[in-house]
Amino acid sequence: MIIQLQKNISSADIKIIYQTLEAQKYSVTKVNTQFENYLICIGKVDIDIRNIGHLKGIKDIHRVSDSYKLVSRKWKTDYTKIDLGNNIIIGNGTPTMMAGPCSIESEEQVSKIVEHLVKNNIHIMRGGVFKPRSSPYAFRGLGIDGLKMMHQQCKKNNIKIITEVMQVSQIHEMIDYVDIFQVGARNSQNYNLLDALGEIDKPVLIKRGVSGTIEELLHSAEYIFSKGNERLMICERGIRTFETIYRNTFDINAIQVLKDKSHLPVIADPSHGIGIREYVPKIALASLFAGADGVIYEVHEKPEEAYSDGQQTLNFMESENLIAKINTVKELL
Ligand code: PEP
Ligand code: MN
Repeated sequence: MIIQLQKNISSADIKIIYQTLEAQKYSVTKVNTQFENYLICIGKVDIDIRNIGHLKGIKDIHRVSDSYKLVSRKWKTDYTKIDLGNNIIIGNGTPTMMAGPCSIESEEQVSKIVEHLVKNNIHIMRGGVFKPRSSPYAFRGLGIDGLKMMHQQCKKNNIKIITEVMQVSQIHEMIDYVDIFQVGARNSQNYNLLDALGEIDKPVLIKRGVSGTIEELLHSAEYIFSKGNERLMICERGIRTFETIYRNTFDINAIQVLKDKSHLPVIADPSHGIGIREYVPKIALASLFAGADGVIYEVHEKPEEAYSDGQQTLNFMESENLIAKINTVKELL
């Protein structure tokens, strides 16, 4: 059960609500986000919510049977929209595109990509500077200097930045240069990181774990929300299955299921989802038709020379064709 509290509720009224719930053996967790104050109430007995809803200081009360609560769609009639400023709103019915290289490599690389984004009306640039790599000998990113370089060029061109944060200690040094923090697949269940991202007021995109279930992803999102950050989106990026012919098995089913189970925007990552350049545009389109609110994909001037993930990265022509196709089908979505 979720209780939304009135902002100006007195401590005496809160006490009465707690006492009423505790009398029914309910455990109560108070959650204050940047927008609302909630009580998350978990118990075994079935309470008649009318016996609680009349108490002073309660704005609304919702029965939520899912094990994740705040990210569930059961209590919220509207879908969540995330406003990044400059009229860039994720989840407002038009697909949000986020594109950029797997890794930030150089000033020149960034400027070429920024130019490509501007030309194609893409307002959010992706690009990793702290890279989780399967091998410790592979390129692991330019770190904070790479992020500052990216920020300088994006700011001049009104482009927002999404980049991966790998550990709690990086949040503070990154926060002024980031518009959306990305939690990568490998960190999808790093609960200390999720807690810390719940305590800041910056949007977070959380990816599904390498072998993560849909429910695990929703619980990971619940960690962030329950620490106070409602500006969240969830990302399908493929999972590991017995199939080895492509990098991951992109779970298109998950997109509809996530839209049904949660009010959070759902973003598709076809680049990591399939891992093969020539298939990425079709999977991107399929994701939008399946209900995704946006697509994040990798693009590079010369994918064959990219420091990481070149095999799944679109070149400028392929990226331009994808955007053109999306524009022609926008009305149908
Ligand atoms: C990435 O976006 O570059 C990345 C490492 O993705 P994932 O966490 O999905 O593997
Ligand atoms: Mn990548």
